[in-house]
Amino acid sequence: MKIAIIGAGIIGISTAYELQRLGFEVVVYDRHTSVAEETSFANAGAIAPGYVTPWSSPGMLWKILKHWPSRHSPVRVDRLLSISPVWVWQWLRACSEKRYLENRSRVQRLAHYSRDVLHEVAMQHELDYERKSGFTVLSRGVTEQRQAEKSLDFLRSAGVQAKWLDEQAIRALEPGLNPDQPFVGGIHVASDEVGNCRLYAQELKWLCAKLGVRFEM
Ligand SMILES: Cc1cc2nc3c(=O)[nH]c(=O)nc-3n(C[C@H](O)[C@H](O)[C@H](O)COP(=O)(O)OP(=O)(O)OC[C@H]3O[C@@H](n4cnc5c(N)ncnc54)[C@H](O)[C@@H]3O)c2cc1C
Repeated sequence: MKIAIIGAGIIGISTAYELQRLGFEVVVYDRHTSVAEETSFANAGAIAPGYVTPWSSPGMLWKILKHWPSRHSPVRVDRLLSISPVWVWQWLRACSEKRYLENRSRVQRLAHYSRDVLHEVAMQHELDYERKSGFTVLSRGVTEQRQAEKSLDFLRSAGVQAKWLDEQAIRALEPGLNPDQPFVGGIHVASDEVGNCRLYAQELKWLCAKLGVRFEM
């Protein structure tokens, strides 16, 4: 069976790899001449399953409305009237505490599974994607520290081994941080990691091509 994948970002390449291994004949199409040229080009590189949380969460409606007028709002709706009222109703239901907790544990299971697969593939094929252990989220001031304390409770309730580190401890862990940039501390998750998404996609493309995936780019 032939399968066409449109888009050679991290998702397209990973899907191509899995489908080719399952015995399908895979062709990947992209409008660019190389892989990972858009969102997968330079993301933050965090591989942090503990931090994964659904957008449909309690209070999300208020958060969206609060940022709505801002040019940098994380959510933009171009054609408000085109949104189906049924969809809005279902989304609001998904924002309830009960649904949110159910969905959070589902996406976290999926994220842990994805991370395990990433490790398996990288180890099996000796892919080097500049992986580094540990993930830290800095708090610049006391307000952010208070928010971080809530996040810590949330992470711990999800079974993530997260801890608060002060500035000195973080600078010792990451000596590359700008000494002129002040912060009060941050949340550190030792079991999470970071990596270079674009590099991984490039290496996986090379592997896919070796396995017989065709690229039309
Ligand atoms: C600022 C930022 C930071 C992020 N940080 C993280 C992080 O730390 N950790 C994390 O896990 N995630 C992070 N993400 C999210 C993550 O980067 C994306 O979820 C991921 O890269 C999406 O991959 P993708 O393959 O779906 O999309 P893309 O990488 O955008 O790939 C889509 C591809 O489809 C192609 N395409 C689209 N339409 C067509 C068409 N009609 N014809 C041909 N080709 C087409 C495009 O050219 C592109 O190559 C971040 C995202 C952003 C924006």
